[in-house]
Amino acid sequence: MGQALRQLLDTTDRTSGVWRFSTLVMPANDKVVSWPEGNTPAITRAAVSAYAGVNNLVLKHEGMNPTGSFKDRGMTVAVTHAVRAGATAVACASTGNTSASLAAYASQAGLPALVFVPKGKVATGKLAQAMAYGARTLIVDGDFDACLALAREVGSELGVYLANSVNPWRLEGQKTIVWELMAEVGWTAPDWIALPAGAVGNTSAFGKALREAKALGLIDQVPRILAVQASGAAPFAQGFENGFAERVKVHAETVATAIRIGDPASWDRAVRAIRETHGVVVSVTDAEIMEAKAVIDASGVGCEPASAASVAGVKVLRARGMIGADDRVACILTGHLLKDPDATHTFHTGQNRLANAPVAIEPKVSEVERILKTLR
Ligand SMILES: *Cc1c(COP(=O)(O)O)cnc(C)c1O
Repeated sequence: MGQALRQLLDTTDRTSGVWRFSTLVMPANDKVVSWPEGNTPAITRAAVSAYAGVNNLVLKHEGMNPTGSFKDRGMTVAVTHAVRAGATAVACASTGNTSASLAAYASQAGLPALVFVPKGKVATGKLAQAMAYGARTLIVDGDFDACLALAREVGSELGVYLANSVNPWRLEGQKTIVWELMAEVGWTAPDWIALPAGAVGNTSAFGKALREAKALGLIDQVPRILAVQASGAAPFAQGFENGFAERVKVHAETVATAIRIGDPASWDRAVRAIRETHGVVVSVTDAEIMEAKAVIDASGVGCEPASAASVAGVKVLRARGMIGADDRVACILTGHLLKDPDATHTFHTGQNRLANAPVAIEPKVSEVERILKTLR
C-alpha cells in the first residue's frame, strides 16, 4: 500500500505543496483558495551543520512560502473551508504570521478579515503584511493569550469564522510540511525533526502527519520530534520535564515573538505527538536563539528568530549526547528573515560575538580600501 501511495503522491500535480496531498488533507476539494503554497526547499549548509555539531542536517525552509511562513499551509485549507461553509467574515488572533497569512488568503477569497495582535509585540514585517493585504488589523492591549481569548469570544458571539491554530483544518494543511520533507528525501525518514514550538499547533500537526504516514505505509520508521521553546516562554518544555503531569501556563517573554506564548492552545494534541514519536521538548535562551540565527543568516539562508530555535535546540541535544553526530536531522525554518528586521538590526548593532555592524564612512576610495583590507 505504501509503495503505490508514494508513487501516486510523487506523480500528482505539484503546483501546491499542500493540495498535492489533497486526499489526505481535505478530500472533495473542487474549489480551493490557493496561492499556491508549499514546495519549499530542503537545503544543507556546511556552516549550520558544523554549528549544530551534526553531519547530516537538512534545513526545510518554510519561510519560502508566499507570505513568508509555514502558516500558509494551514491557511489555504482553513480559508477553503471557510468559503465552503459560507462564512461572511474570518478572524484570528496572532503573534503576527497567522494574521499576515489570513490577510492574504481572505483577500484572495474576497472575505473581510479581522486580525487581533498583541500591542507592541508583533514584528514589523508581519504587521505591515496584515495591513497591506487588507485585513482590519486590531491592536489589542494585552498579550497573545488575551488576543486568543477575545478571538474565541468573537467567533462564537458574532458568528465570524475562526482561523486560529485550534482550527482543525489548519493542522491538516500543516501536516504536509512533514510529508513534503519525506518526499524530498525519497521517503526515507530522518532520525529527528526539530521545530520551534509556541502554541504547539505545528507540533501536533507533525505528530498527526507521522502517525498517518506510518499507518499508510509511507514510512517504515517514525522520526523523533524535537520541539524547541524559548526559555522565557517554555510551559510545554516544563510540562515535558514533569512527564506532562499537568498543564503549565506562564507569562511569556522572548525575542522570538512567534513563540511568545504562555498558554499553548494545542497542549493535549502536542503531548500525544511527543509521546508517540518518543519526542523531546527543550528550551533555549534568547541568546542561543539569536546566535543560531546569526549562523543561519550568515550562511546565506536566513530566518526569523523563532525559526532559529530549531537549530539551537539541536545543538543543545547534540551537546548532551542525545543526538548523535551521524543522526539524520531536519530542522524546520518556520519563517523568513525579513519578517523581523528589528531583531536582526538590534543584534548586529549590539555587543554580540557574531555582530556585523554597518560602518559609517566618508565618500572616499581610501576609506573603502582601508575596510577592504580588513576583509581579506
Ligand atoms: C507560528 C510560528 C511558530 C510556532 O508554531 P506553533 O504552532 O504556534 O507552535 C514558530 N515559528 C514561526 C515563524 C511561526 O510563525
